[in-house]
This record gives sequence, C-alpha cells and structure tokens, in this order.
Amino acid sequence: MILLNDIKVPIDGDQEDLKRAIEKKLKASIRSYMIRKKSLDARKDPLYVYSVLVDVKDEEKYIRKGYQKYIPEQLEPDRIDTDETCIIIGYGPSGLFSAYRLHSAGYKVIVFEKGKRIEERVRDVETFFQTGILDPESNVQFGEGGAGTFSDAKLTTRIKDRYIDYILDLFIRFGASERIRYENHAHIGTDEIRKIIGSITDHLIAEGVSFHFGEPVTGLILNEMHEAIGVTTKQGSYDADHILLGIGHSAQETYEMLKKQGVFMEKKDIAIGFRVEHPQSFIDARQTDALVKEANEYFLRYKGEKGVYSFCMCPGGIVIPAMSDRNSIVTNGMSYAARDSGYANSAILIQVFKEEFEDGLAYLRSLEKEAYDYSRSYQALAQNIGDFMNGELHPLVFESTYPLGTVLYDFNRFFNEKDLTILKEAFRDFDRKIPGFIDKGIIVGPETRSSSPIRINRDQTCQSVNTKRLYPMGEGAGYGGGIMSCALDGIRIANAILWKHEQI
Ligand SMILES: Cc1cc2nc3c(=O)[nH]c(=O)nc-3n(C[C@H](O)[C@H](O)[C@H](O)COP(=O)(O)OP(=O)(O)OC[C@H]3O[C@@H](n4cnc5c(N)ncnc54)[C@H](O)[C@@H]3O)c2cc1C
Repeated sequence: MILLNDIKVPIDGDQEDLKRAIEKKLKASIRSYMIRKKSLDARKDPLYVYSVLVDVKDEEKYIRKGYQKYIPEQLEPDRIDTDETCIIIGYGPSGLFSAYRLHSAGYKVIVFEKGKRIEERVRDVETFFQTGILDPESNVQFGEGGAGTFSDAKLTTRIKDRYIDYILDLFIRFGASERIRYENHAHIGTDEIRKIIGSITDHLIAEGVSFHFGEPVTGLILNEMHEAIGVTTKQGSYDADHILLGIGHSAQETYEMLKKQGVFMEKKDIAIGFRVEHPQSFIDARQTDALVKEANEYFLRYKGEKGVYSFCMCPGGIVIPAMSDRNSIVTNGMSYAARDSGYANSAILIQVFKEEFEDGLAYLRSLEKEAYDYSRSYQALAQNIGDFMNGELHPLVFESTYPLGTVLYDFNRFFNEKDLTILKEAFRDFDRKIPGFIDKGIIVGPETRSSSPIRINRDQTCQSVNTKRLYPMGEGAGYGGGIMSCALDGIRIANAILWKHEQI
C-alpha cells in the first residue's frame, strides 16, 4: 500500500469521485483504497481533503517516484511469559482498554465492576427514564462500559497519540463503522457503542478474563509498606501483583474508602453549569458553513475572568438524567447513531477553582441535592435562556427532551454574583456568534459531573505516589476526560506494567 495525502474532492462528491481523484493523481487504475483521514477545507469552495492508502499494481514504481510506502506500526504488545495477576477496578474505557491490553500480553486479568452487564443495565436505565425509580448501583454512571455507554459516544480528543488508531481499530473490529477512523468529530451513538462494548466483553470472557459484575471493591489489602497487594469485596478477598483503579468520577463511597486507607489524593479545579437545548434546525441554519454536514455542531468558548465553554455537544440528541445518587439531579447528553431527535444539546460550563470549595465531592453533591429539593422529584430544573438573562420565569419556548419532565426554576439562584455576571457575558458573546442563541434556547440542569474534583496522584511509574502497586487511571483519578483520553490512559497504565515502568 502507498500513502497519498492531499486528495481533494468537492463536498458533494462520492466514493467514485474520490477513486477518480486518486487515479488522476497516480495516472493509473487502482485496485482499492482505504481512507485514513478526511478533513474539511472551507476556506473558499468547501472541499474534503483526504489521506488514503492505495493498493496499486507495480507499487515499487510509485515508491521510486517518491510516494511513501505505508508500513503499519506494530502496536500490539508482545506476549510475555508471566504468571502475574492484574486486578482492574472499574470497567469504563480506562478499565476496558487496560484489561484488553494486559490480557493480550499474557497477564491474568480480573475485572471488578460495581454495575451490571449492558442488557440488565439498559433495562435499569430505561426503567429510571420512564418511572423515576433509580438504582444507585446500575445507572448512567455505573456498569459495563462505564459512563460513556449512555452517551453520544463522540470519539474526539485533542490528544495526539499513536495509540488512537489502536483504540479505533478495536472498536472497528468489534462492530464500529470504518468511518470512525477518518471522520472529523466521529461519534458512534449509544445504541452502537453498547453492542460494541458487549462484544469486546464477550470476547474477553471467552479468552479467559475473569469478570465480577455487580461486585464493587470495598477495600484494598495493604502490606506493612503500604503497598496494594489485593482487594476485598463483600464476596471475598483477592490477591494481585498490580491493581488498576479506573473508578470514574461518581463513586463517592470508593473515594471515601481510598481516603480512609490513606491513598494520597488532592482536590482539583472543576466546572459546573447546565445543558442548553435548541431546535437542531436552528443550529444548522445559523452555522456559517451550513453547506456542510459538520455544521450541526458548535464549540463555544468565552474567556472572561473565568472560562465559560460548551462541552460534550450532542447534535440530534436528548438531555438525560445522569445521577447515580438518590434524591439528586444531574443532567448530561446522549444520542443515538442516527442523531435524529430534532434537538441539539450541549453543556455550558463555568470554571470553579479548587480554592473555591473545601471538599469537591461534597460541594457537587450539595448542588445536586439542592436541585432535587427544589424540584421535589427527578424532574430537571429548566428556564428559557432569555429569562435567565433577565431573571424572569415564563413557560419554556419548547419542551425539553429530558425524559422525566422539568420544573421552572430561576438559575440566577444557582450561581454566585460573580459567576452569574461572567455567565451572562458569555451568553451575550455566544449570541453574537450564533444569533438567536439566547432567544431560541432553554436551559436544563444542573450539570455537575463533567470532571472529577479529585486527583489521585501518581508518580513517574504511574503508581500512586504513596501506595505502590496501585495505578490510578482515567477520569476518576484526574488523568483523563472523555472516552478516548480515558481509553488512552488505560493503555498507558497497561504499558507501564508491561514495560516494567521503563519506557512510558
Ligand atoms: C451521559 C454521558 C455522556 C458522555 N458522552 C461522552 C461522549 O460523547 N464522548 C466522550 O468522549 N465522553 C463522554 N462522556 C464522558 C466519558 O464517558 C467518561 O469520560 C469516561 O467514561 C471515563 O472513563 P473511565 O474509565 O475513567 O471511568 P468510567 O467510564 O466512569 O467508569 C468507571 C467505572 O468504575 C466503576 N466503579 C466505581 N467504583 C467501583 C468499585 N469500588 N468497584 C468496582 N467498580 C467500580 C463504575 O461502576 C464505572 O462503571 C460522557 C459521560 C456521560 C455520563
């Protein structure tokens, strides 16, 4: 295969047009091609620019002419002869990818996940969405696949890392579309990612990885040097050589257990806010490059005394109840592969610096409970954006997609004076960028679980700074945010163990 860059095709072009453009460049017929990258050039007449791998007869001739031969990087780990055991606590993206990699390398892997397998979890989540009966152990945050299972499953990250292809290849091998390899802002959708994760788990079970669903880890077994040498659960105790901690940001009792056992952690900055929702047709029409499909998304940033930004946008999605604790309200966004709800939602968040709170977990839980106490139910709090700007309350300009209903609430009560001023400046700025953003939109919230308020610090070998053989990873440890970055962090931890901490 040879690698060709900079192949340009009009945005309404199809696969045949791309093939023709490749053949024109090579001045030859080709056998096949595979897209590696596709990006939009909207500077003049919008174009798609492709990088492709091409199978062409007499490849050497083109290499002599200066074309690049494609040699895939070997990213699979070499199998090693080991009888070491790795325990993985939490089976979100960081847990899944570390489990997959360590198992592939020959380690004995045991996974503990407090939530259930996907089929049962989907039933529990759907029951909650329909009836308001929440299972604190099986919900949007907890269970097979972790927090990203009920999501838009956007695979975006700003991180540049050679293992991104390794992650995408695994998703594709287990059922994702090839498009995720090259599409900008690729997403899988909750319906598809559930199937993919389920298939990866089935594969690992068939390969001999031991899974304990519905069995939360309740303690670490520590030796006299404060090294983690095993874990306890209600069912028993288990020894291990390495313990990977991928607990996400929502398991309060797990953080408390770790704190009690003396694992070092510190508070970190967070962000809070709410979801905004607009009719998707309004967002599509208001984007400057409305000609192209990517127009259905927006990314908004406002730099005032504090940052305010849009986060985790779900075009064609719904706002969902994402709480894991009873008597609390937390919103988030989710979409199906078709992204066809007719509404766009995105979090709008304002930074909260760690100096502004004593205990981040307690602070966030108090906001979530305050929302519940006002609503007296799992109905989310909601307000027209225009009313938020003026401190008024009127019926919503449209009904939210949030499945449990909403109650009107003045979000001016939710923030301190300083944050309110910054948030309103931000909305005026967003309204200049997308005219009508204020009048056409509603707020649904609160949104409090966009990142962990805690960092479980690790050293250069990726072990906890004061509890060796314990490897904090992913979002809950403060080393990732989002599916891709947490998956990458899981791989990083697996590599640290594989390479005996030498080359990470
Ligand atoms: C509704 C929603 C939508 C999202 N949408 C996107 C998106 O589109 N794109 C994106 O990139 N990111 C998205 N995210 C964020 C992304 O899902 C997370 O950043 C990512 O899942 C974090 O991965 P993780 O492995 O660190 O932890 P998690 O995925 O949070 O998994 C942690 C797991 O650990 C388990 N656990 C906790 N304590 C214990 C214990 N004591 N014993 C055993 N198990 C335990 C939990 O049950 C959980 O399953 C979304 C999140 C939510 C909630």
